[in-house]
Amino acid sequence: RDGRSDWSSDVCSSDLSTTRRLLSLARPEAGLLAVATTALLISSGMSLVYPQAIKWLVDTIVTDGDASVLNYAAMALVVMFIVQAVFGAIRAWLFTVASERVVARLRNRLFMSILGQEIGFFDMSRTGELTNRLASDTTVLQNTVTVNVSMALRYIVGAVGGTIMLLWMSPRLTVVAIAVVPIIAVSAAVYGRWLRSLSRKVQDALALSTSIAEEAISGVRTVRAFAREEAEGERYAAAVETSYQLAARRALAMGIFQSVLGFAGFSTIALVVWWGGSLVIEDRMSVGDLTAFLIYTGLIAVSLGALSGLYSDFMRAIGASQRVFELMDRNSDLETESGEILQSVSGDVVLSDVHFAYPTRTDAPVLQGLDLTLGAGEVVALVGPSGSGKSTVAALLSRFYDPNSGVISIDGRDLTSLNPKSLRHHVGVVSQEPILFAASIAENIRYGKPDATQDEVRAAALAANAIDFVDGFPEGFDTLVGERGVRLSGGQKQRIAIARAVLKDPAILVLDEATSALDSESEHLVQEALDRLMEGRTTLVIAHRLSTVRDADRVVVLADGKVAEQGTHDALIDADGLYKKLVERQFGAA
Ligand code: ADP
Repeated sequence: RDGRSDWSSDVCSSDLSTTRRLLSLARPEAGLLAVATTALLISSGMSLVYPQAIKWLVDTIVTDGDASVLNYAAMALVVMFIVQAVFGAIRAWLFTVASERVVARLRNRLFMSILGQEIGFFDMSRTGELTNRLASDTTVLQNTVTVNVSMALRYIVGAVGGTIMLLWMSPRLTVVAIAVVPIIAVSAAVYGRWLRSLSRKVQDALALSTSIAEEAISGVRTVRAFAREEAEGERYAAAVETSYQLAARRALAMGIFQSVLGFAGFSTIALVVWWGGSLVIEDRMSVGDLTAFLIYTGLIAVSLGALSGLYSDFMRAIGASQRVFELMDRNSDLETESGEILQSVSGDVVLSDVHFAYPTRTDAPVLQGLDLTLGAGEVVALVGPSGSGKSTVAALLSRFYDPNSGVISIDGRDLTSLNPKSLRHHVGVVSQEPILFAASIAENIRYGKPDATQDEVRAAALAANAIDFVDGFPEGFDTLVGERGVRLSGGQKQRIAIARAVLKDPAILVLDEATSALDSESEHLVQEALDRLMEGRTTLVIAHRLSTVRDADRVVVLADGKVAEQGTHDALIDADGLYKKLVERQFGAA
């Protein structure tokens, strides 16, 4: 599926603005970061000071100084290391806490932004890809931001501070020691860019393999039933192979990059010993000076080497965060917070000359000039061949999509002028396969009205014919359903979904009638509950049962994206048209 590219390649923000944005996310942690930075300056400061104590020690030894000076110098050294250890721990701890907070905030925002996308977006994105973005990309970010920011600062202080100390001790020798810096800078710039695009590809490939696994795992019954385990395994293996190939290339690139830098660093040490040694021989430098100088050079080399490693990690994080930000910035024009708030609704629904094609299949029009009027309180059965667009009409009423042309209105108000949340408050949907969340029965019923009282929940369950089986569970309304809870039968789930709709009390109701036959006992209970629910509401039933169609005030037959016929069941049978054929074919009766 190439749908992903629709939203992940259009905005490619620059590295700089991504970095700036990452930093802006950290702004609320400024206080914590200030303390952490202070600890960092103290502990890193120690690594710049202790070579001076070593110099003191070495010069004392070499010049046959007295033992008490030696003791003082060694003690000073130990004290410095203690200070360094304590503040080093504080630094690592506080930086990690701060960045964990940043990432937690980022995750929440990303999740809300995903949930806020229009339904068409979910048609073109795979669930696995989106959850991957939430889990894997943010984890890459987390690792980097968490550990690396504090390490990067530490190494920057090491490199810069070390250089200053070198300059102070011997400017001439310093030139030799830092001759490698341009090499590092150039290769980092060249490699970094390439590495970043490679890293982004690795993450993309990983996301693809995750979504394949997710499809197969969530559809495991189908996979098993068709004995497709091997085939799914191959599909997954192919995706994993791609990401492995890319990751292997990245590993090679990083390996070369780092060893080049390592070589540069160590040759510098050789150079400094050689040159510095000649200065010592000529008595222009003490042995202690050379020792300290070597330690500083080592510190700078280690710092720069580590920074280059961090740089590639940082590039990974930039790649990951670009995708996170792209998704976060993707605005759904359908899901605005603005628009008129509907207070009360009587339930007149009009669709006039509605044309519609799904955003993912714009070349296949589903509705082509649909005119449909539902009077307040009327029950209309929608029938038509499979694929004629019945569920599409239902989706348009919830404004999951906007029509390409034509107008849909409720009580004379165009849906596009209404606040979507307020609209959906007045439109209730009970679908064929109700989705229950892994929570208690009460919470599932309350889903559309979280502030409902216990009594209201009971009343809704009663109206939905659910009270008997709920009370039959030892834990009643607190019984957990779904994962790690009880598994409800189809009819029970339906009745919970009906109770949910009763509690929400919408003026307009869309019922997608279950196609699969329930056993006659629960069918009766479900039907009774539905009849009660429909009372006084404008109802559109996507009908699969003859009894529903017969009882409806009006039957509307959809064909070719338009209303083909409408009228009462009897009138339409008499008309001897499409409806009669449908009834004979679909319901096996006339
Ligand atoms: P019905 O409910 O009458 O069986 P639908 O409204 O589900 O028909 O579907 C009408 C047409 O729209 C079908 O051709 C179907 O393939 C297509 N369709 C349904 N849902 C989507 C979707 N989310 N994205 C793209 N096409 C869709």
